[in-house]
Amino acid sequence: MAFARGSFDGSMCTVWGSHLFLAAMSICDLGNKEQKVRYLPKMATGEWIGALALTEPEAGTDATSLATTAVRDGDYYILNGSKTFISNAPIADVFVTYATMDMSKRAGGITGFIVDRDTPGLTCGPPMRKHFGKSTPTGEMFFNDAKIPAENLLGKEGEGFTAMIASLGWERLAFAPIVGLMEAELDLCIDYAKTRKQFGKPVGKFQLVQAMLAEMKMDLEASRYLALSLAWKKDQGIYNPIDAAIAKTFPCPLTAP
Ligand SMILES: Cc1cc2nc3c(=O)[nH]c(=O)nc-3n(C[C@H](O)[C@H](O)[C@H](O)COP(=O)(O)OP(=O)(O)OC[C@H]3O[C@@H](n4cnc5c(N)ncnc54)[C@H](O)[C@@H]3O)c2cc1C
Repeated sequence: MAFARGSFDGSMCTVWGSHLFLAAMSICDLGNKEQKVRYLPKMATGEWIGALALTEPEAGTDATSLATTAVRDGDYYILNGSKTFISNAPIADVFVTYATMDMSKRAGGITGFIVDRDTPGLTCGPPMRKHFGKSTPTGEMFFNDAKIPAENLLGKEGEGFTAMIASLGWERLAFAPIVGLMEAELDLCIDYAKTRKQFGKPVGKFQLVQAMLAEMKMDLEASRYLALSLAWKKDQGIYNPIDAAIAKTFPCPLTAP
């Protein structure tokens, strides 16, 4: 929440949420011991930046339609395809990504991988131009016969979809700190209402403006409650995806639950 409050366009939340909640927590929850030892200490110190690469040009909301393919070839998996809109992609060292090993199985073919930035056959595009969240670099990735060592398989073949859904639970938690941004915006509005004068008095003395500020405060406090209660439940091991969807969608109604 403090990150969101401090970075006025919410970008710090996205950079940090993608790194920590989406990439590092996926490895923490699904990785084996060797993977955790190799990746998590450097991700914890920030020496390595992480990203979650799921979305493709033709697979956004419909995550079961992934077209990036993975084929086992001896000690490697060969990945072909592309990803888009990936937060941190232009700067990330480590990617958690998903590809299909059998498109006919839809969700049942999806498999997770940990991918190092210097993987042969992987290229990352430049930061995309955006209207909002400009301090989060967002970009494309291209797998062209990218050779992923077999030990970088995340979880089991064909079990990636469940893992992906679990990591999106963390993603919803990453949106909850947007409460900090709401706080900062409300403070700005209150300052403005106190200083902007019309008809001889600050606009904050008018009932309609007071009602708008009151509504913002109610939305802020409801969002804060939802975010803290979600985080508390996650800590207690009683995480519920519906709570997560509500905590994300209430403060950010234009995002998908
Ligand atoms: C700034 C930014 C950062 C991002 N960061 C990441 C990231 O780090 N990693 C990553 O993997 N992805 C990332 N994404 C991608 C994001 O997750 C997708 O944009 C999102 O999943 C929506 O996919 P889409 O854009 O392809 O829209 P589409 O799936 O094409 O949807 C378009 C519209 O149709 C609606 N729609 C779709 N299906 C249905 C349905 N069944 N019923 C009703 N309405 C429907 C959607 O709500 C939406 O309004 C990022 C996107 C942005 C903009």
